[in-house]
Amino acid sequence: MTDRHYNVAVIGAGPAGIYASDILSKSDLDVSIDLFERLPAPYGLVRYGVAPDHPRIKAIIKALFNVLQRGDIRFLGNIDIGRDVTVAELREYYDAVVVATGANADAPLDIPGVGLPGCYGAADFVSWYDGHPDYPRTWPLEASQVAVLGVGNVALDVSRILAKHPEDLHPTEIPENVEEGLKASPVTDVHVFGRRGPAQVKFTPMELRELGQVRDVDVVVYPEDFEYDDGSRRAIEESKMTKQVVDQLTNWVFQEPEELTASRRIHIHLLQQPVEILGDERVEGIRMERTALQGDGSVKGTGEYVDYPVQAVYRAVGYASSPLDGVPFDDVRKVVPNAGGRVTRDGETIDGLYATGWIKRGPVGLIGSTKSDAQETVANLVEDARAGRLRPTGDGTGSGGLVRLLDGRGVRYTTWHGWELLEAFEKELGRADGRERIKVVERETMTAVSRGEPHDGKLY
Ligand SMILES: Cc1cc2nc3c(=O)[nH]c(=O)nc-3n(C[C@H](O)[C@H](O)[C@H](O)COP(=O)(O)OP(=O)(O)OC[C@H]3O[C@@H](n4cnc5c(N)ncnc54)[C@H](O)[C@@H]3O)c2cc1C
Repeated sequence: MTDRHYNVAVIGAGPAGIYASDILSKSDLDVSIDLFERLPAPYGLVRYGVAPDHPRIKAIIKALFNVLQRGDIRFLGNIDIGRDVTVAELREYYDAVVVATGANADAPLDIPGVGLPGCYGAADFVSWYDGHPDYPRTWPLEASQVAVLGVGNVALDVSRILAKHPEDLHPTEIPENVEEGLKASPVTDVHVFGRRGPAQVKFTPMELRELGQVRDVDVVVYPEDFEYDDGSRRAIEESKMTKQVVDQLTNWVFQEPEELTASRRIHIHLLQQPVEILGDERVEGIRMERTALQGDGSVKGTGEYVDYPVQAVYRAVGYASSPLDGVPFDDVRKVVPNAGGRVTRDGETIDGLYATGWIKRGPVGLIGSTKSDAQETVANLVEDARAGRLRPTGDGTGSGGLVRLLDGRGVRYTTWHGWELLEAFEKELGRADGRERIKVVERETMTAVSRGEPHDGKLY
């Protein structure tokens, strides 16, 4: 137990930042917590990553909402740390700063043709269909045949949203511009490609099963892609989840041709790696090389190539975090270097600076894993406080000093009450259309509604 009061700033109101704030608020430190978010809306990728047709995730939103609704954690939205306020400034006012800025960019894929028009990052597409205010309002959906590279859940989300009939998305919170955009799409075939075999895909069973339940969309797999080596057999034996995924994929092998009657198809191709995106002016196809399992579950190219005529390619090969000024960044692993959440520079811990969530350990894992992650980071922060290692570099007045700074700079920050106003506004929009809510995309409207200022009602 320490007897003084601490001011802690958390940057990023995604699940990692909210869980860290919650756990810290329940520690035995006497602490005030300010949670800074670049957007007027909280929840990070739960709002701007999770697909609109995954409403069961709402239960998690409710849990995160309950944390912030308590009122002991101060939400300060529409503040870009690094632009509106620097991390160095935060460190003057706060005893400790926790970086929870997540990941929002696409991991690179280095093959010829990747820069052609028609080749897109999955993260950008997700940001568009989830109505992120900082992304364009239109998306070029002109392809009837599409390739999606990657065999994780993001690849499934992208394929499903591309293939699904937009009227089946209408009941969700999907923004109006996105629904209109999808209605114009001529897509008939989405080809998902994985480098390795059925026992190595990263889909989770529930998400894969869901693919088979999409109306008027068939899932097509190819018997020649079903190969197993010792590594694959071990993976199936050791993991129930892997077995479930392989079983589900195998079920589709046994479909009879007359069962495939849908107007749209999602093809899952395995043991093929992308070599080149083809086309002169824009994407006209993709060249894949067949791979062969090597015994331990890894693969090698076989020198046998297949060209697929596609007019768009989506790279779903992973997310990547972005650096934050004033915080060390590992450019290779795309994370903030840390030891158990204590940020390090050249192996040395920086007192009072912490990381949690995807920025701490990379963009893998479901929302639940950000909770255990936050536990570790907060435990180390509390231990450092007890050991007297937390000291602000300035006056340490926390939000008092910081809010004066924001006001002085004319930053139109928003609060938790502002989020309540914006939620009520979105729900009202939805009610008029028999839906739970319709997302507002336009940042100015989000900000003005949150601040109770006049606005023109522009939704996107
Ligand atoms: C497409 C997609 C679908 C997913 N679907 C699921 C799913 O169905 N179920 C599931 O359990 N998990 C899902 N996940 C995983 C889940 O979203 C992550 O585990 C989780 O969001 C990571 O939390 P985080 O807080 O570390 O990062 P994020 O959620 O990215 O939150 C980071 C927050 O920091 C803010 N921020 C960034 N920079 C700054 C700055 N400079 N100043 C202020 N604020 C800043 C961002 O705006 C954001 O709000 C999905 C992920 C993706 C990408």
